Amino acid sequence: MRTLVATEFKPMEMVATETWEDHASCRAMPNAADLFFSEDIGEIAAAKRACGECPVLAPCLEAALDRGEPCGVWGGQLFMNGKMLAIKRRRGRPPKNPRPEDQMPVIPIPAHLTAVAERLTA
Ligand code: SF4
Repeated sequence: MRTLVATEFKPMEMVATETWEDHASCRAMPNAADLFFSEDIGEIAAAKRACGECPVLAPCLEAALDRGEPCGVWGGQLFMNGKMLAIKRRRGRPPKNPRPEDQMPVIPIPAHLTAVAERLTA
């Protein structure tokens, strides 16, 4: 007698619905957690550059603002102590010749989020 095994069975609650997170560029990055929560200027700049290319920047930033993210790079913006930082510099005196990898990209804030973002900008 053969035993039938239902390998294709998926209960309704197990069927995933697509969300904006499914399209996040950082999902495919193996070192995302290190990069997006780094203290290193070069890594923060790299995370912001990744956000700049991300197709879900707007919902990501909106969600981060809604949650009141305390730190990390979200939607192309750097959060520290619950504030959005426009710039971040290395400790000590600024170098005579700034390193190209430290150039902090300016990622535009979507128009519908500018009012909220301005209140949080340090
Ligand atoms: S905007 Fe940045 S942090 Fe947000 S999902 Fe895209 S890559 Fe990740």
